Amino acid sequence: MAIASETCGILPSAHLQRLLDTLSAKGYRIVGPIVRDGSVVWDTVRSVSDLPIGWRDQQEPGRYRLEQTGSQEVFGVVHGAQSLKQFVFAPREPLLQIERSKDGFATRPTLPQSEKVAIIGARACDLAGLTIQDRIFLNDAYRDPYYASRREGLFVIAVNCTRALSTCFCASMETGPRAKHGFDLVLTEVDDSLLIEAGSEAGRDLLSNLCLSTGSEQLSAEAARRIEACAQSQVRRLDHSRLPQALYDAHEHPRWDELAGRCLACTNCTMVCPTCFCHTVEETPDLSHQQSTHTRLWDSCFTQEHGYIHGKNVRPTIKDRYRMWLTHKLASWIDQFGTSGCVGCGRCITWCPVGIDVTEELSALLTQDGRSSGTPQQMESS
Ligand code: SF4
Ligand code: SF4
Repeated sequence: MAIASETCGILPSAHLQRLLDTLSAKGYRIVGPIVRDGSVVWDTVRSVSDLPIGWRDQQEPGRYRLEQTGSQEVFGVVHGAQSLKQFVFAPREPLLQIERSKDGFATRPTLPQSEKVAIIGARACDLAGLTIQDRIFLNDAYRDPYYASRREGLFVIAVNCTRALSTCFCASMETGPRAKHGFDLVLTEVDDSLLIEAGSEAGRDLLSNLCLSTGSEQLSAEAARRIEACAQSQVRRLDHSRLPQALYDAHEHPRWDELAGRCLACTNCTMVCPTCFCHTVEETPDLSHQQSTHTRLWDSCFTQEHGYIHGKNVRPTIKDRYRMWLTHKLASWIDQFGTSGCVGCGRCITWCPVGIDVTEELSALLTQDGRSSGTPQQMESS
């Protein structure tokens, strides 16, 4: 059965440049994964050859490696340390310019210009993270105009995952590996073809510009089979069936002390997490003290300073800070926002220098004696 051409089409991978050229013609700056310094980062893409063709990533707790397979696979790398967070919630954002005047001072907001940016290669977990950031910055009582301005110009081209990393657990969080919403277009790479589906009016419009041959039932079925196989291959899972209460009940669990002995409070996990949104503000006056810039910066609940409130540090130890992070992420986030704060991307596992694994820690915290009920390796061999 052929699928309606306005919602689905097939593009040979060798013709992917057509999609990039169409986006450029519509005024988008294209951002995609590129290989840099042994990892994959988001950056401007002008040509298909900028994409990580033939590369694959291997990730384990505390370990990230890229390897070249020599294939023509375009989207073989699942992800790097960066999620989509930086495109909407900027790591460093000037909020206000303050200037001294005769009568006191005047303030001038420094809203960023909305830029048309097309991101190609976002994964289902990235979209789930973006939905959570939207909930925090746009859909709550206070709409953040800086975030809104950056978000407005985004056109998102997702890629369904057909290969899972050893650190992925999106299937258990029900956020992936198939992208279900939050994209304009979604691609599934099946050998040398890209199945393209539209998820928005803008996506349908772009798809119709490409004049592709219609999707076939055979290719759609093969794409679905590969996505399902990817879900089944995930060796990590997070059991959230007893959350949030079970984690609140574990507040005095001895595992927190053991964890505090390993955690370096380096903040890596919070920097790479697509949903963490802690920030601080800094005031930078000029030398003449005539003007000052008020800037928002990413911060982390793992720093001493972040817990310092009104003359007292409310989370003085690493144990306090790790417990606060995990309990917020997996428990109180549900009460606060109606969803888990974890989307199962596994980045905090890969980029933790000592390989602390949230799935293993939660499993241990939900048992009486603090021992994990099963490492991924045990699950594989059982
Ligand atoms: S807590 Fe870890 S696995 Fe969950 S969304 Fe954040 S970085 Fe990803
Ligand atoms: S990345 Fe690991 S060591 Fe660093 S703060 Fe997070 S849990 Fe602790």
